[in-house]
Amino acid sequence: AAKAHKLVVLGAGESGIGAALLGKKNGYEVFVSDGGAIKDNYKKELIDNGIAFEEGKHTEEKILEADEVMKSPGIPEKNEMVKKIRAKGIEVISEIELAYRFKGNSKIVAITGSNGKSTTTSLIYHICKTADLDCALVGNIGYSFAKQVAEDPKQLYVAEISSFQLDDIVDFRPDIAVLLNITEDHLDRYDYKFENYIDSKFRIIENQRPGDYFIYNADDEVIEQKLQTLHLNINLLPFSMKQEIKKGAYIKGDQMMIRIQEERVSMSIYDFALKGKHNQSNTMAAGIAASTLDIRKEKIRDAITNFEALEHRMEHVATVRGVEFINDSKATNVNSTWYALESMNKPTILILGGVDKGNDYSLIEDLVVEKVKAIVCMGLDNEKIHEAFKGKVPVIVDTASAKDAVTKSFELAAKGDVVLLSPACASFDLFKNYAERGTQFKNAVKDL
Ligand code: ADP
Repeated sequence: AAKAHKLVVLGAGESGIGAALLGKKNGYEVFVSDGGAIKDNYKKELIDNGIAFEEGKHTEEKILEADEVMKSPGIPEKNEMVKKIRAKGIEVISEIELAYRFKGNSKIVAITGSNGKSTTTSLIYHICKTADLDCALVGNIGYSFAKQVAEDPKQLYVAEISSFQLDDIVDFRPDIAVLLNITEDHLDRYDYKFENYIDSKFRIIENQRPGDYFIYNADDEVIEQKLQTLHLNINLLPFSMKQEIKKGAYIKGDQMMIRIQEERVSMSIYDFALKGKHNQSNTMAAGIAASTLDIRKEKIRDAITNFEALEHRMEHVATVRGVEFINDSKATNVNSTWYALESMNKPTILILGGVDKGNDYSLIEDLVVEKVKAIVCMGLDNEKIHEAFKGKVPVIVDTASAKDAVTKSFELAAKGDVVLLSPACASFDLFKNYAERGTQFKNAVKDL
């Protein structure tokens, strides 16, 4: 018999477990290695499926025996084990590559961008569900693509794709690719070079063929500039808030127009479930994607109108004695905070801070000066925020818990103000993740 293909899975989180299950199902000899502790529910899945694993260490001899390594998106290139794997010339792939390898004839809609991925992915999925398509919501949004392919294959996968997942693709090819925007993020993982991050995002179309669709934001200068350097033979479907688009979508006045062939969708932006300017872009992107899937325009309109907004993204929490509280904990970079501030129309107490990813706060300086009466820092190291806004905002205070941040903000707020948690930073200094940060914030508001 042929020797089994040896797949080593580095990192046993959602992606790693999914890849292990899919590899095993397809006859690979799988070994999972996690340098930290593996969660109990994941461990159980490995044991139940007879998959070998280790935790708290990386056994070099075993790992370097691999024919192929699936690297989890959270593991950086500078990881010692990764360096050794690279040095030995072993092929490294991401989980979406493996999922792609085994997906059969099913279609993929892949959504990437610096901001708005989860929102847009969820909306596309919601439209597909409304139209009764046989589909699944997968990827960065929390459900492993590979696991879905292994355990419950569908005809269509609506996948949120991060740049880290794109870094290690080989053949991965979405039938429909969506690129929402590109702004500086995660530069720590890209040698602090914006070009590298841009290139990573554009890998979403590198394997596309004639007949495939590329939906992108024509208002995004970074995307437009990069496109000018490429010679593409795929269907380009841009969207814009500024100019009329022949094939794609645009907003003129209060109307959104989508046109791909003769079929048009037109609807009022006031009927969008998702509010805020940035969500108009997201909604256009989703509407085009749905149109390429031949979903009827009535269904698209219904779904766009009925969609329920996601938790932790510009989520109204409560109004307490005239002070409104908004949870935008998912804003983990400066650009998403920019959009949050842009949509504020009341004096704002801004809760900012956490783990800095190379933030450039000058991007939000104008909006902060215009709208923010106090900054409440919530993080272990708030120095950069102080430096950026000293003398520009009347009050800047430090806190190191959600509870404290909410109490301080409430003290600083007057009736008619808004308290906005839109931290522009990752959450790992004080919280498990952005969701825990948002939940603690909401609980603290409820305790007021
Ligand atoms: P992602 O999955 O890319 O992190 P989300 O949909 O979870 O994106 O939204 C993350 C944050 O970015 C939220 O604070 C949201 O308000 C903001 N946001 C959403 N869409 C956009 C957009 N198109 N441009 C800029 N910011 C956005």
